[in-house]
Amino acid sequence: MVLGPVLLGAVFVGVTATQVSADRATERLDYASSAVRTTVGALCRQLQTVAEAVASTQDEDRLAIAAQFVARGAASGVHIERSSGGETTPAAPPPPWADCSGGGHEAVAGYEAISARAALSDGTIISAATTVDVQFVVRLSGASGAALTVLPAAPTVSNTQELGLKRVSNEEPIFSTLQSEEASAVAQIANGLGQDALGKTAGGALVRRIGPVAGQPLPVAISVDAGLPRSTHLMLIFVVMLTGLAAIVAAWWLARTATAPLVGLSQAAEKVAAGDLQTRVPVTGSDEIGRLASAFNHMTRELETYVTALTASRDQLRGHLGVLGDTLSSTHDLDRILHVILQTARHATGATSGLVLLAEQGVLVGKCASEMDVDVRVPIGDGLVGSVAATGVPRMGRVDRDGPRLAETEPECESYVVVPFSSPGLAEAAGIIPALPAARGVLALYGPDFNDQDLVTLRTFAGQAAVALDNVRVHEEAQRLSVTDSLTGLFNYRSLRETLRREADRAGRFGRKLAVLALDLDHFKEINDRFGHAAGDAVLAEFAQRIRYEIREVDIAFRQGGEEFVILLPETDDAGGIAVAERLCEAVRRAPIMALDEFSIPVTVSIGIAVLPDHGMSGVAVLRAADEALYLAKTSGRDTFRLAGGALVEVGGASGGPQAPRQAQGR
Ligand code: GH3
Ligand code: MG
Ligand code: MG
Repeated sequence: MVLGPVLLGAVFVGVTATQVSADRATERLDYASSAVRTTVGALCRQLQTVAEAVASTQDEDRLAIAAQFVARGAASGVHIERSSGGETTPAAPPPPWADCSGGGHEAVAGYEAISARAALSDGTIISAATTVDVQFVVRLSGASGAALTVLPAAPTVSNTQELGLKRVSNEEPIFSTLQSEEASAVAQIANGLGQDALGKTAGGALVRRIGPVAGQPLPVAISVDAGLPRSTHLMLIFVVMLTGLAAIVAAWWLARTATAPLVGLSQAAEKVAAGDLQTRVPVTGSDEIGRLASAFNHMTRELETYVTALTASRDQLRGHLGVLGDTLSSTHDLDRILHVILQTARHATGATSGLVLLAEQGVLVGKCASEMDVDVRVPIGDGLVGSVAATGVPRMGRVDRDGPRLAETEPECESYVVVPFSSPGLAEAAGIIPALPAARGVLALYGPDFNDQDLVTLRTFAGQAAVALDNVRVHEEAQRLSVTDSLTGLFNYRSLRETLRREADRAGRFGRKLAVLALDLDHFKEINDRFGHAAGDAVLAEFAQRIRYEIREVDIAFRQGGEEFVILLPETDDAGGIAVAERLCEAVRRAPIMALDEFSIPVTVSIGIAVLPDHGMSGVAVLRAADEALYLAKTSGRDTFRLAGGALVEVGGASGGPQAPRQAQGR
């Protein structure tokens, strides 16, 4: 591609140079023509002067005078033509002589001299001539600055014979400053030309023919080389080739310097694409490529910073999620679970503060807070969190723009995202549309504007939290069941052992009393036998209900097994124990138990009472004492109570009544 302009330039230069050279050739030819005319004309005038000078002398002196002129170099020879005969100075050029007054009338192979003549009245003609030879032609050529070729005068048959001359080919030049071949070509062209006409040889020489005319008697072809000299052609070709070569080298160098950085850039870009963000390209100079390189480096640096930040943030989130997962799966500590969920959600969304509220009897109660007050109560359905809890639909936005109006007891906020604690995945999978209120609680985050991604993240957390909450509840239920008797709802035997030990320890440590009541339904086997096992179960459940009703909140009732029960009365002495036993006997006796809506079954209970530390120093010992007292009550006729250690009189006194009447009531 680069060679195109070079070649075009070369053609242009070549054409221009050729044109200039042709113009110059014509100019040189013009100059040479006038130089030849001037020189030959001057020569003619000089010969004329010599001829006239000789003519002006006495006839007898003329030859001598003429010889003097010849001796002085004014002419090469003088010929005096008289009617009586002719005389010529010695060493004069042989004829024919070309006459300055105009040629053409004598056709000869070539002139030996140029002559001028002076005619006298007596018919004498004096001719002065100068030799036309090689030196003459060379001098003339030198004066004109062009190549000179003396042409033969066109011979005619008549005067050839008359002059006794050999007919010569008119193509042959006489003298020429050119090489013979060139001279022949020039002569051939010139012979075909008219006076002063221009011609051109096949070799490229420009030719003008002058003479024979008056003042220019010699037929001469003046020629110059019209074309560029061969050396110039060679030089031109050499220069063109050199320029072409230089252009190719320059183009190669340019391509290399321009493409090398681009190749480097594309390689670097591939490295970056493969993940090597530390790739940099060298910045060379401040041109476009330099700017591109520095922009590339800047981009890669930014990318690296961004990826580093992203990785750090991802790692942090992973850490939080790890803690969240561990916590959710390893603990049933509700407070801790809520705390971890809240912190993770805050970090994941960039929230400035957050709150977890759980539903408790129609009210959302703050359970865990981050960077805000946890003491919040909002009725379900009220304000922002209340409406989310009521509808189970998450909300995100700004209070001033999207509402809703906050409840009075709700924390002030600007931007929020609130999601309900529910397990939509599970509910939907089961085809259940949760009944209102849908949520068991809400997770509320406050802070900068949140986006859809935050909402998705938060819903995920809320889903996990809901599962965790379920787990906690299931766990609590399982725990409750493990210490509870399913028929009566009272604590079971296992629980009795632990609670008894704990309460006995506490009483012993603080010097307090602990009353233990052992209860056994009377003739229960008969009830089973008469009304059936199911009715017996119903009696047991109702009996437990009556017990619960009669005791204080701090008192703890257990079903020890079958129809045997135990009640622990903390901070209670024997008198208190007797009072409770009395009340219980009364409560059971008072009305028959309706079993299965079918049977009205009268029931009584016998109770043994023992007190720590009066009847034993350990829980087990006191319970045994109570059992023994129960046995006493049974043997005393049932439907009554007995205090351990046989302290019947004291107990009776303390309880405000003797035991005997009770015993009398037993069946
Ligand atoms: P006593 O007045 O001497 O206590 O007579 P009793 O029949 O109550 O005495 P016993 O201890 O021999 O009988 C207890 C009966 O309680 C035996 C058993 O059939 C019945 N029983 C034990 N556990 C259950 C239970 O869970 N449900 C029902 N329906 N009956 C039970
Ligand atoms: Mg029994
Ligand atoms: Mg019994």
